[in-house]
Amino acid sequence: MTRRDLLAGAAAAGAWAVGSMVQSASAAEPGSPAGHSPRRQAVLKISAQEGVIPGESLAEKLDRMEAWGIEGLEVGGRGLPARVDELRKALQGRNVKISAICAGFEGWLIASDPQVREKAFNSMKEILTAAGALGSTGLIIVPAFNHQESLPHREARVLLTGFQRADKPRPEEPPLLARLGDHAAACGTRILLEPLNREECYFLRTVADGASMCRDLNHPGIAVMGDFWHMTWEETNDMGAFLSAGDWLHHVHIASRRTRNTPGEDGEADNYVLGFKGLKAIGYQDYISFECGAKGDREVVVPAAVKLIRDQWAQA
Ligand code: MG
Repeated sequence: MTRRDLLAGAAAAGAWAVGSMVQSASAAEPGSPAGHSPRRQAVLKISAQEGVIPGESLAEKLDRMEAWGIEGLEVGGRGLPARVDELRKALQGRNVKISAICAGFEGWLIASDPQVREKAFNSMKEILTAAGALGSTGLIIVPAFNHQESLPHREARVLLTGFQRADKPRPEEPPLLARLGDHAAACGTRILLEPLNREECYFLRTVADGASMCRDLNHPGIAVMGDFWHMTWEETNDMGAFLSAGDWLHHVHIASRRTRNTPGEDGEADNYVLGFKGLKAIGYQDYISFECGAKGDREVVVPAAVKLIRDQWAQA
């Protein structure tokens, strides 16, 4: 059985109800650690957002990615349904697969205006369908940026995950993220919650908080990611952050840690070893993806960053 079969099967069985049973059994007992898969050895798979790689065309970018050992392509979600055929053809016979899909939806999920929430929900579903068709690990979403008028945090959390405490009974009506997760899982993909630093978002800032939302939902279509750029400002310990996410972690963004350029361009600050130790400890199987600018010539600094990541992974 493939991961896609498993996810689709869980959705067909009604993941909200299944999650409820699993939760009461063991996985989300208060105080229990996140699920780890110690028998699984972590893998290093490097990915890049489309805009990070130099090239006049997608084919040129893919040529460079293959030459540099970059295995994942992260594309934007805006207009994705119209790009499915183009992307499938471009990747045929290549050593590059679609990794995550970065945002691109309309509205935002925890808007105080219900019409904006509805717009976000429907728009995310369309992108999830395309993401599933492309075999993507998930659609990256931010519940709301600071400038987007939103519900108070407590109400927003209840809207998304349905309840505040694990010892309270679940409501029968699935909360917003469970409904989105059902669609994601039916498509063989996921929602990836992305914590951001406080300058951009206050609702979801740490990997552990995103993971606790995953734990509340315990749904195969809902996962969390970590972004080293935001983690630099919000996390007290990169390894601790990834350990707290365990099997709920399904994507990682990477950038230099002072100026958000390619890893290595900020010199000594660009140390990811502790984070990589955390990824190894949880048996991480997904991508580490460049989301960054570049100070230097991309033909030089991107392959140098790939080497830095491989070297630090080996040290971890
Ligand atoms: Mg990011």
